[in-house]
Order: sequence, then structure tokens, then C-alpha cells
Amino acid sequence: MRSTSYWLLVTGFWFLCTGVAVAAPTPSVKIPILMYHRIRAYKGTGPMSKLTNVSPQTFRAQMHWLADHGYYTVTLDAMVKLLHGDEPGLAKPMVITFDDGYRSQLEEAVPVLRSLHFTAAFYMITSHIPHPDFMHKKELQALANEGMQIEAHTVHHDDLRTISKQQQIKELAESKAAIEEITGKPVLHFAYPDGGFTHSISARVGSLGYMTAVTINSGFATSKNNLLELPRIWMKEGMDMAKMFP
Ligand SMILES: [Zn+2]
Repeated sequence: MRSTSYWLLVTGFWFLCTGVAVAAPTPSVKIPILMYHRIRAYKGTGPMSKLTNVSPQTFRAQMHWLADHGYYTVTLDAMVKLLHGDEPGLAKPMVITFDDGYRSQLEEAVPVLRSLHFTAAFYMITSHIPHPDFMHKKELQALANEGMQIEAHTVHHDDLRTISKQQQIKELAESKAAIEEITGKPVLHFAYPDGGFTHSISARVGSLGYMTAVTINSGFATSKNNLLELPRIWMKEGMDMAKMFP
């Protein structure tokens, strides 16, 4: 009797273990979130200029390389669903993001994106609307209407770590409201100016109604990431695309 109970226990345990082992493991989704700033030739005005400028030729080549190697774009909302396994995805999803809203993004990058049927997210500094170097309200409305995502990057582009909690709330809430007013669509995504955040700042971003926030930390986004502290891939001149995007 004692030995029967023992074997019941052993076989029960075996079924439990094999049941778990046989169940197909959820493949770990890894999604690169590409980060661009200006799409123009490097003018040699300092180290940051080199890091934040990608020439139109390089941008075009990088987009075509990614398309030729099976990458396709998803919106930030679709990325969240893929990371959390709510929707089955194709093999190589990516998100393309542009910071600050420079005119060169509209003039040089958007035509390439359109030609490849790619979508992208543009993080706007709302105090720069209108400004001759940045995209205007009507252009943003047109981009939003064709399926591009227009998202928030604060009002004044201050590093959130350097301003008070009250100022942080104002920057986060006012930029969100201003872009929603322009596009008529909910703004659920945010980019930290200069990549600056702390855990309490990211929690505040979430409490103000944002679903995701991107940093300048390097890496592919996975389900293990806090959605309010997502890493990105800083796109540069001379990148080894095959090494970065296996
Ligand atoms: Zn910025």
C-alpha cells in the first residue's frame, strides 16, 4: 500500500514534469527599436553631431538592408502586443523612431519609409512647433493620417532628472495634450530627453497615461523590459548591419 502511494506520487510528478517540458516554450521575442535624429550629412560640428546625424544615403541603405533581410515595421502599440505574446508575429519585427522632429526626417526619411511601406514614430518637442527647423502642425497631421505615430518628447527637452517633480508632470502632461490636440489621436508613447530617467520618473511617466517610454540604453526590447524604460539601437554612419541585426 505504501509502495503504491509512492509510485502514484512518482508517476504524478513525472506527468507534471513532462507536461511542462512538452508544452512549446514561448519563443522570446526580441524587437529592435531603431533611433534616429537628423537625416543629413555629418557636418563635422562636434562629436554629438557625428552621433546624431545619419546621411540620407546611409539612411536609405540601412532601410533597404533591413527590408531585404526580412525586417518589417510595427507600431509601438503592436510592439507591446508582440512583447506580451498577445499576438503571433512574423520573425523580424522592428520599430523605427525619430527624436526631436527635425525637418530632415520629413524631407529625407519619410519618402524612403513610404517607398518600403514602413511606419515610424516621431517624438516631438512641443515648444518647437512651429519652428523653421522642425516639422509643422499640418505636416504632423498629414503624417498621423497616413499611419505614422506622432508621440511626445516633452515641451522644452529638459533632462527630466534636472527639473522638479512638478515641472516633470507639466512637461509630460502638456506635451501629451498638445500633440493629441494636433493629431486627434491618443499619445501613449514617450521618449526621455537625453535618455534621462530614474525608476521614479518612469513610474511617473506611466501614471500620466503613457504606455511606453524609450531611453538611449542600448539593446533589443524583450518581454523582460519595463515598458517605460525600453532600450533602443542608436543608428549611426558606418554601422555593421549584419552584426547588429542577425
Ligand atoms: Zn531629443
